[in-house]
Amino acid sequence: MATSVVSPSADELKSALVDLRAEHPTLGIAKLHELLLSANPFWTVSEKRTRKVLQSEGLTLSPSSAKPSTDGANSIHPSSRIIEGLDIEKWTTKVEVKYFGKTKGKGLVAKESIAAGEILWKEDPFILAPEWDLYDLQMSSLACGYCSTPLTNSPLVIPCPMSSSTTPCPVRFCSRLCLARSGRTHPLLCASQNPASAPLLHFARRNQWMALQALAQCTARVLIAQQQDEKTFSEDWEVVRALAQLGMEERVKSGWLGGAEPDRATWKKAHRIYVQAFQEPATEPEKKRLSKLLKKPLSKDVAHELFDYDRFLSGLGRMSLNLEAHGGLYILHSHINHSCMPNVSVRHLDQRTALSRITVIARQDIAPGEELFITYVNPEQPLDQRRRQLIEWGFGLCKCDRCVAEESETSEATVGKADVDDLEAELKAGLGVM
Ligand SMILES: [Zn+2]
Ligand SMILES: [Zn+2]
Ligand SMILES: [Zn+2]
Repeated sequence: MATSVVSPSADELKSALVDLRAEHPTLGIAKLHELLLSANPFWTVSEKRTRKVLQSEGLTLSPSSAKPSTDGANSIHPSSRIIEGLDIEKWTTKVEVKYFGKTKGKGLVAKESIAAGEILWKEDPFILAPEWDLYDLQMSSLACGYCSTPLTNSPLVIPCPMSSSTTPCPVRFCSRLCLARSGRTHPLLCASQNPASAPLLHFARRNQWMALQALAQCTARVLIAQQQDEKTFSEDWEVVRALAQLGMEERVKSGWLGGAEPDRATWKKAHRIYVQAFQEPATEPEKKRLSKLLKKPLSKDVAHELFDYDRFLSGLGRMSLNLEAHGGLYILHSHINHSCMPNVSVRHLDQRTALSRITVIARQDIAPGEELFITYVNPEQPLDQRRRQLIEWGFGLCKCDRCVAEESETSEATVGKADVDDLEAELKAGLGVM
C-alpha cells in the first residue's frame, strides 16, 4: 500500500529540528537535514527549508567553525536590561551588575576575591508564588501568608486583619513584620478585600500554573505601588520591566507550547479572569471592593502593559524565566546567568523564620571580574538532556564551559562524579525537585 509523502507543518518541522539540534549540537546543516529525513521518512522537506528554520531558531552553528562559538551569538537568548537606579549595595558589596551586550544581556560579576563557602548575600523575594504544598498551607492558615514559613502556635501569629465573617480571608502571618510587608501584595489577593481575585488564584492552583500565580502576585504589587507614591511605583515597575523575557513567538519556537504549560485556550481563559481580578470584576459588589483599593486611575500605558493579552503572555513568560525553584522572584538573584557547572548556590537557610529568604553562597573561590553562575537544570542529567531542556525553556544552546568541554571529550567526562553527586544533593536540599 502506498503511503503518501507529506510536507510537515511549520510547527512540526520546528519542533523536530529543535529536538535534533539538542541531540546533535555540533552537526552542520546538511547532516542535520539528513537525520531529519531519515527520522521522518514520510516527510518531504528541502534542505533550504531546514536551513531557514534553523536560522530563524538561532540553531545554526557559527559559519567559521563546526563548533558552536562560545559567545552565544547564535542562540536564542532572553532579552533583559539593566534596572535603572538599582542599589545593589543594600544586598552586597561583593558583586556588581554587568551588561554583556544585547545577546547575553545582564549578569553578575565578582568585585573582589570571594572564597568558597562565603555568603554573598541574603535576599527576600520581590514577590513569592510558593510551591503548591506551601500555598495550600497558606490558604488553610497553616503557613505565613507573606514568607510561607509553616506557622507554630506562637502568640505572634496574626490573622489577616481584614477578614470578616461574611467574607473570610484564611491568611495568617507569622509576625507583625510579615503582616506589614504583605501590605505590598496581599490586599489585592485577599478573599475579603478583593474577592474578584479568588477565581484567578483558584484557576492557577487547579492548573498548577506557577507562572500565573506569580504574575498575579506581581500585578498586585505593581498596582498597589501605583496607589502609593511615584517613587515606589517607578522602582517596582522598573524591576518588572527589566526582567529577562522572550517574545511569545520565540518562546513558541523554542518549544514552549510542547512543554508543561497550558495550551492557548487556557491562556485566553486565564487572561479573562486575570482582567476580572484586577481591572474589571464581573459583579457590581466585586467592582466596589476593588475600587476601594484602587482609587488612583492607572495610566493608559501601564494599563496596556499589564492587561493587553499579548502583554499578559509576555508577563507569564517573564515569570517562568525568572522564578527561583521555590517560586520566589528575587531582584538580584534574577540577574544570575546559567552554567551547568555553577560557582554559586542558592539555599533557603532561614527555614524557621523566613523560609522564602534565599542565601547565595560561593561554591568555589571566585576571582574579581569572574561571572557568577547558578544552574537552571538538574546538572546530573547528561549533556543532551540539559541542553534540550534549556532550549525548550528558550535559553538557546548551552555553551557553558562544561557543555563545551563535554562536547569535545565525549569519551571522558570532564566533570568528576563527586561534583555531580554534590550538586544533585544540593538541588534536593536547597531547591527541591526541579
Ligand atoms: Zn512570615
Ligand atoms: Zn486577607
Ligand atoms: Zn551547559
